[in-house]
Order: sequence, then C-alpha cells, then structure tokens
Amino acid sequence: MADPSATQRDPAGVTGPTPDTAPPPRRPFWLVLLAVFAINFLLVNLIFPGPRRPVQVPYTTFREQVRAGNVEAIATRADMVQGTFAEPLEIELPNGTHVEVGAFSTTLPAFVDPGLEALLLDHGVVINAEPLETPRSPLLTLLLTFGPTLLLIGIFVWLSRRMAAGLNAPGSGLFGLGQSRARRYDQADVKVTFDDVAGIDEAEAELAEIVDFLKNPEKYTRLGGTAPKGVLLVGAPGTGKTLLAKAVAGEAGVPFFSMNASEFVEMVVGVGASRVRDLFEQARKAAPAIIFIDELDAIGRSRGAAVFSGNSEQEQTLNQILTEMDGFSSREGVIVLAATNRPDVLDSALLRSGRFDRRVTVNPPDRNGREKILEVHTRDVPLDPDVSLAGIAGITPGLVGADLRNLVNEAALQAARRGGDTVTHSDFAQALEKMVLGPKRPLALTPQDRERIAYHEAGHALLGLVVPEADPVSRVTITPRGQSLGVTYQRPDDDRYNYPEAYLRARIIGALGGRAAEELVYGDRTTGAENDLEQVTRLATQMVTRWGMNERVGPLSLTPRQDPYLASANQAGGGLAGHSQATAELVDREVRELVDECYRLALQLLREHRAELDRLAATLLERETLDEAEILAATGLG
Ligand code: ADP
Ligand code: ZN
Repeated sequence: MADPSATQRDPAGVTGPTPDTAPPPRRPFWLVLLAVFAINFLLVNLIFPGPRRPVQVPYTTFREQVRAGNVEAIATRADMVQGTFAEPLEIELPNGTHVEVGAFSTTLPAFVDPGLEALLLDHGVVINAEPLETPRSPLLTLLLTFGPTLLLIGIFVWLSRRMAAGLNAPGSGLFGLGQSRARRYDQADVKVTFDDVAGIDEAEAELAEIVDFLKNPEKYTRLGGTAPKGVLLVGAPGTGKTLLAKAVAGEAGVPFFSMNASEFVEMVVGVGASRVRDLFEQARKAAPAIIFIDELDAIGRSRGAAVFSGNSEQEQTLNQILTEMDGFSSREGVIVLAATNRPDVLDSALLRSGRFDRRVTVNPPDRNGREKILEVHTRDVPLDPDVSLAGIAGITPGLVGADLRNLVNEAALQAARRGGDTVTHSDFAQALEKMVLGPKRPLALTPQDRERIAYHEAGHALLGLVVPEADPVSRVTITPRGQSLGVTYQRPDDDRYNYPEAYLRARIIGALGGRAAEELVYGDRTTGAENDLEQVTRLATQMVTRWGMNERVGPLSLTPRQDPYLASANQAGGGLAGHSQATAELVDREVRELVDECYRLALQLLREHRAELDRLAATLLERETLDEAEILAATGLG
C-alpha cells in the first residue's frame, strides 16, 4: 500500500475494538442425522397416512355401543376386536382426560359371552374375521426394506461431500481426492508475456535464461550442462511473482501448471503428497513445462522449527516435493518455479543444490517501475490528456504491481460512475484516496469540528510548504474516509533510499503541524493527532537508536534491523533489549528532546504564518479538497 509516511492521516477519535467475526457454525453430525430421520418419518406419514390408531375401550362400553346401534362393523382376530363407532363417542380415560373415540379396539373377556353373537346379529353389525392389519402398500414395503440402506448411503455421501468441502473441492466427493488440482494452462492459454510485466526488470532478466532453456534445451544439454530445476521467486505479495512465472511459460510457449501450497496445510494426511506426485506426473507428460508453486512457505517451513506441531501432512507434502525434484533431471524440461515472501522460514532442504538453488528477488517497483506498470495496465484505458502516469507514479511510493492494477481499475470505475468518457487525474486521485483510506464516510460533524479539522490539516500542509526540506504537498482533504477525518498528502521528490537528517526532522515537524495548529488556534488538544504522534515517536526513536543522529547517544545501533521486506523509514522503533538502564534512560530523554524541539519549531512557524494558515483553513472548509495549485493559491506561497 501507499507509504503512509508521506501522508498525515488523522484517526476519527479513539477507535473501538474490532468485533470478532465468528466463523460460520458447523452443524454437528447428530443434528443432521436427527433431521434426516425426522424428514423420513414425516415423508412416510405424509405418503401413507395410516388408519388412526384405535383407542382401547372397555368391553362393556363396546357392548353398550353395539346395543345402541353405534357399531356398524367389526373385525376380529383371536380375542381382539376392532371397529369404528358410527358416531364418535366421548369416553373418559383412566388418567381422567376425555377423548372422542372413533376407531376403537377392545379385548374379549376370558369368559364366553353367550349373548354377544346374537346381539351383533340383531344390530346388523358386519363381522369381519380377516387379519387386523391392513395390507401394506407395496411402496411402503419397499421403503421399509431399503430405507435404512438408503439412509446409510445418504450419510456416506454427505460425509464424503463434507470432506471434499474441507479440501476446497466441492463436488469432487471421495473420488477426486488424490488428484492434483493444479490448474493447467495449456500453451494457448498462457497469453502472458514479458510485455505484460513491467518495473521488475532485474527479475525478468534473470528469468530470460529459463525461457531460453525451455525453447532450446539442446543448446544447454549438448555439452552435458544442466539448467536449473527450481527457481525461488522471493518478494512481497503483489509484486508480480505469479505474473512473472506465467510470462516465462508464455514466452517459452510451454504449458503452465500452478498450485497453491497453502491448500495442503489442512488436508487429510497423504492427499497432499499424492497431489504433488500427480502434478509432477502431469507436467512431465506435457514437458517442456513450468510448474508454479505459490506460497511455498506454507508447506516448506523449516521442519525443525515446530517439533510438536504434528503437522505431518505438511511434512509429507514437502518430502514429496523434494523427492519429485530429486527424481527428475532438468533435461526432461520441467522447471519448477516457487514463490514466497518468507524465504527466511524455508526448510534448508528445499534450498539445497538440485532443488530451489536459484533465487530471484522481485523488488517492489521504484518510481520509474511504477510508471511502466501503470503504462501496462492503462493500455486499454482511455486516459484524459491531463493524466500524467509519471505524476501518478510519483505519488504512489510503496504501491506494488497488484496495487497499481487496482488503482487503474478503481479510477476507471470512478470515471464511469461520473459518466465521463475518459479517466482523469482527479479520478486517479480519488481512487488512490479510497484505496489508501477506505471509502468516504458520511459523518455528522458539527461546524466547529469541521473547522478544527480544517485547521489541523492546514497546519500539516502549511509546514510542508514552509519547511524547505519537506516533501511538496500535493493534496489536502477534510472528507472523512475510513478511519480518517482528514489527510494531507506529501509527495516525495523521488523514491528515496537514503534519508538525510534534515528531511527526517522536516517530517517530524510536519507531522506535529496538526496538533500545533489546534493548540495555536484553540488553545487546547484533541485526540485527532493520535496517528501523527505515532509516526513522530517512531521516526524520532529510530533517528536516535538506529541511525546515529544524536550527539549524546552517538553513532550506535541500539535496535536490530527489521524485516528487510518492510524496511523503510517508518518502521517501528523496537525495544532496547540488551542495553543498560542508563542507555535506555538516555535514549528516552533524547527522543523526548528531539520531539519537543520539533514541536516548538512547528508552533513558531505557524505563528509566523498565521495569516496563511487562516486562509488555507477557510478555503479548505469551503472546498473540502484542495490540489497542489489550489493550496499554493490559497496561501499565496506559490
Ligand atoms: P504475486 O504473485 O507476487 O503476489 P501477482 O503476480 O499475483 O503477484 O500479481 C497480481 C496482479 O498484479 C498481476 O496479475 C498483474 O496484473 C499485476 N501486477 C503485479 N506485478 C506486476 C508487474 N510487475 N507488472 C505488471 N503487472 C503487475
Ligand atoms: Zn494530523
């Protein structure tokens, strides 16, 4: 993302804790089983609504009802009698409740009731001596016979689906488990060439040799030489590693097989290894070919590092990759490219000779590189004449290829929303703002709050103008976005790799400008400077403890250098472990001193330019966003 060091973002007050988003609940298995049974039961009862269950009535009741002519027909078997009352009869159950009885059953007493037969005949009751149970429908019989089996099969299918879902392979069920899900791009599909890759020329040049090998393997193997088998592409996310690997395949006109190593981490044991085997087999069949393994660190982490991690799947997958790489010679024409942004955690076995023994670093693009990347991605975008890609490259330090592609995309969308025919500079500026800070946020700010924010930003901007070493101010806005209430953008003249002390001081002074302006105008403080103060503290601490810019501390490096991929002037200061209490106290004092001095300067400069500050704040209140020319016009400092 954009180097936030070049901007002063002001958080909207104290932010609350981010709510944890709970993972979607997994239904427990027994619940599903219960549901299956319930549905089965309902279905059976819906399709075959059986006769209502007869209610057991006393024999005497039965006899009375026959006499009353309320029984038309009965069925008997052994000592059981079943029938239906013509008029439903209300009877009292032993537990005291009353029920209406239609279908009834009763048991003949042990003694013989001699009068019953005559009574029945007298009242014309049809006597039926057929079996009591109604014959089952053939469908029901079928269901009862096969139902349990069907249920079992259903559960089985469900389980296998669930497993497959866990493997990110919906629908493949149990059968696609061991197969490689590497996506195969055939020759025709890889249309990416080196023309689509920009701004990472060194990496591109190193890979040109691989292309050459794939095109003319004889040239290399004739004299018994071997080409590299594996190349490790090292670089931050979005710098174009995948793109580069595809371009190698595209340039050489060979198929491209890719797989993401992180997919193996949570897999069923054995599946990862068999996928790897399958992937290499496919690639060999299609040779010459490129295999691309993204996020290699997900499985290639040093095995010793987590002894009890117990992730034997990861280990097996890794071992299989090693086995495969040892098992073929590069003459077969398969070259494995792998990408990672954490080369430091990789298992050393991966880096041994004959495996990923080549390393190509893909650096974030510099200003010139960013311009080239923007050119690639704006090929099909109608740009307004006011757009200078070089200018945009200048205000996007820290953005990598993927970010720049997004930026172009957002700008085009912005232009479309506006209903424009071309994409203008202001579309780019707004897209960048949205990318860096998040979407606009309608906040109900009081006029007093808005005025205060305007003064705060004007303070930053004005100091950017009047401190000679500061970066030029390119844009100021008080439109709330994401977490920020306002922003002042400063554009470094060029990508810097080396920061002079005066420049760092100018940065601290500028960052304190917001707070200083508020204090000057209102005489009190707000939380709005939180982000500024973080930056200030970080920079000042590093000047004292890393860059030897303090007389009393001297040219000592007291904090370890940090991750080289994140290394920049705005990295956290880090602790002072391993140093004496006296040194720690000295550092604290000197950092404080430095910041105090810068704050005094900020206040003084703003006081001297109070008229300009007022004008800038007023213009900002009126127009919300000012570009470079407007800022200069408003202050009269142009
Ligand atoms: P990585 O694999 O390093 O995370 P990708 O190659 O996936 O990055 O980059 C994502 C997209 O960003 C690419 O498809 C491409 O459109 C764009 N991109 C990244 N780097 C570059 C570059 N150097 N030149 C042109 N486009 C790039
Ligand atoms: Zn600020």
